[in-house]
Amino acid sequence: MANIVLPGEFLGTEEEFAAGSGTRVEDGKIYAAVFGTMEVSRDKVVSVRARVQAPKPIDAGSIVYGRVEAIFEPVALIQLQAVEGGEARQVPPEGYSVLHASRVKQGYVDNVHDEVRIGDILKCSVEGIRKDGEIGLSTKAPGLGVVKAYCSHCRGPLALITGGTLKCGRCGSEERRKLSTEYSFVKQG
Ligand SMILES: [Zn+2]
Repeated sequence: MANIVLPGEFLGTEEEFAAGSGTRVEDGKIYAAVFGTMEVSRDKVVSVRARVQAPKPIDAGSIVYGRVEAIFEPVALIQLQAVEGGEARQVPPEGYSVLHASRVKQGYVDNVHDEVRIGDILKCSVEGIRKDGEIGLSTKAPGLGVVKAYCSHCRGPLALITGGTLKCGRCGSEERRKLSTEYSFVKQG
């Protein structure tokens, strides 16, 4: 399973792993240095393969990753973090991208808040870019949706239990999201 990690995310200790590329070490703890996929080799080297490689502009059809910054029904405002196959610095830094309730999944969504929450990391496709620069996003396809989520009560890591239900490892609260098939368990630091 792909485990997508954010810069600064705790990956493990130096007792468990050797720190590889895309990581940094502080007080014996290994953290992700880049946005990407966590990998552990057979000889226990942990590294992060950056999701950002060749230059590529954002366009309709681009696959992007972003964090939910605010929700104003019926839309969620997303701060983009990376473009698949693109360079991080090419992501428009100012302004938000928009995920409308009607673009979250197949079928009717009453409140976008029922499917994504503030702080979640989403994998989205770009549906279009308006003349004013606003980027319209969609998470309808099965591979798209929430790839990382934190408990809305205590910000603890949410583990996937069954059929799209997430359970908080800290307070036991259960939540639901429109999950990507790439949903990653958040390791506790
Ligand atoms: Zn919790």
